[in-house]
Amino acid sequence: MQVAPIPDLDPEINDVRTGTANIVNRYIIPNEDRLHWDHPDRPRLAHEIQDVVKKAGLWAPHLPKEYGGMGIGFLKHAYMNEILAWSPFSNTLFGVVAPDSGNQTILLKYGTDEQKKKWLEPSIRGEIRSCFSMTEPDAAGSNPYAIQTRAIRDGDDWVINGRKWFTSGADGAAFAIVMCRTEEADGTGGTREKMTQIIVPTDTPGFKLVRRIPVWGLNSNHCEIVYDNVRVPVTNQLGRTGTGHQAAQDRLGAGRVFHCMNSVGQMWRAFDLMVRRAMDREVHGGKLEGKQFIQGFIADSYIDIQAARLMTIHAAQVIDRGTSDPRTDISAIKIFVPAAFERVVDRAIQVHGAMGVSGYTPLSGMYTGARTLRIADGPDEVHRILISKIVLGKYHEGASWDFGV
Ligand SMILES: Cc1cc2nc3c(=O)[nH]c(=O)nc-3n(C[C@H](O)[C@H](O)[C@H](O)COP(=O)(O)OP(=O)(O)OC[C@H]3O[C@@H](n4cnc5c(N)ncnc54)[C@H](O)[C@@H]3O)c2cc1C
Repeated sequence: MQVAPIPDLDPEINDVRTGTANIVNRYIIPNEDRLHWDHPDRPRLAHEIQDVVKKAGLWAPHLPKEYGGMGIGFLKHAYMNEILAWSPFSNTLFGVVAPDSGNQTILLKYGTDEQKKKWLEPSIRGEIRSCFSMTEPDAAGSNPYAIQTRAIRDGDDWVINGRKWFTSGADGAAFAIVMCRTEEADGTGGTREKMTQIIVPTDTPGFKLVRRIPVWGLNSNHCEIVYDNVRVPVTNQLGRTGTGHQAAQDRLGAGRVFHCMNSVGQMWRAFDLMVRRAMDREVHGGKLEGKQFIQGFIADSYIDIQAARLMTIHAAQVIDRGTSDPRTDISAIKIFVPAAFERVVDRAIQVHGAMGVSGYTPLSGMYTGARTLRIADGPDEVHRILISKIVLGKYHEGASWDFGV
């Protein structure tokens, strides 16, 4: 990976990018075979690389300094992600483990002192894992108000009943943050105000892990869970009753920018692999790079990556500035970037031939990952609806769209 400082960019961001690239290039990419989860060298090697990361001051970019993180804020973290994403192993080696990192961010913002002590601190120390349980098999995940899992207040407890699925990382997690419809027994309150996130320890009676759901034909840790009269104290509730939707938006909004920068980094690597392969591979009396089909692939992928990257950086800047509504830009990247990622990886696979679908390059994992991203975190259609609603709203107010802001 070739990463030079970007002119006109905050020197601190450049330092983070080049420092990260140095570690990814030197310690992670050459060792990817041995960093596989089931390789016997992984634990020792991971430990050594984590030490290097900590010494370089690049540990846990999502956490504030008082919790042992970098405390670099949103924009710098976004820029760091495109470098981290060059290897599927980087995130955990830099202290960012999904879905724990998202839960840690929410606990930091909404957690009480007691909740932070009990759940956040051990999670940061890596002593416990966690999961986020929102999507349900029997309700459209694309409509956050359709949630059927109910929590009914009984004295000082919430009693939770419902069925969730695609709860990533549930097997082995110590607690789940569960999105519930919180109601008084008489069902009062509007839908929007009824969503509340509640911390449920996974050893609570009634928490039943039904199965790990196969994804792309492989075993996964995306789980189906039944909450059967799960009783937890009201002090396990995150924030005020009815703030669950806002907390989910807080998590997903910034998360979408991180995911997109992550996709940009992977596209960048796929592009690099494709160009090198085109230069090396001899076909029909010449190198692949001499064929116009392949030159078209290189040009189209270059355009996709540039467009995806600049759109994502723009969305990150709009969020960071905080002066205008970032939702249109976030939805735009949520649609555009995974689709561009899919196209770029598809071309790279084509250029590699059979090698492209083998397990000997990271391309096959990138391909299924890109396709999945078009569904996870809200499917494309929902984001298209939101963009058109906001744009039309502006024009109905008598204004028009200003692409300069
Ligand atoms: C690998 C993976 C990991 C995940 N991890 C988690 C997790 O950790 N925790 C969690 O809670 N969830 C998780 N999810 C779930 C994910 O967030 C949902 O799948 C997503 O929000 C879509 O919900 P759904 O699957 O119920 O699809 P649905 O809402 O049923 O939508 C299905 C399709 O209907 C169409 N559609 C929907 N609404 C409209 C509309 N208004 N107009 C036109 N068409 C529409 C779209 O094409 C959409 O793809 C994960 C999913 C995957 C694939």
